Amino acid sequence: MADCLFCSIIAGQIPAEIIARTQSSLAFKDIDPKAPVHFLVVPLEHSENLTQMSAQAAGQLISDATQAAKDLGLDPAEQGFRLVLNSGAGAGQTVFHTHVHVLGGRDFLWPPG
Ligand code: 5GP
Ligand code: ZN
Repeated sequence: MADCLFCSIIAGQIPAEIIARTQSSLAFKDIDPKAPVHFLVVPLEHSENLTQMSAQAAGQLISDATQAAKDLGLDPAEQGFRLVLNSGAGAGQTVFHTHVHVLGGRDFLWPPG
């Protein structure tokens, strides 16, 4: 989609530190990390937020994020990892191409801010 930052990263028009690639998603490091490990997993197909995705596509996105977290050693049996899916500006979404944050490498507070 034109004028979409994450579509431009997927197209290779804007550089990013790629972590993993599947048939339906791309994982790359967040430019402003909030934890020692912080990357984003984005569907290759543009959607604005989670509400625009099919259950199957949303499930695949979570599955890809979980696999990438495991591959990076963020085992739930040890320190674990947190997935964050901000959906809508009021929830903290700033880039309107659906994405999952994968955060790890430190302890996290609950509830989040
Ligand atoms: P949101 O606030 O929409 O949930 O998350 C958007 C995320 O995208 C933020 O954590 C922000 O740091 C990250 N981000 C914004 N611009 C870029 C960029 O150009 N490259 C990368 N790799 N991440 C970005
Ligand atoms: Zn997009």
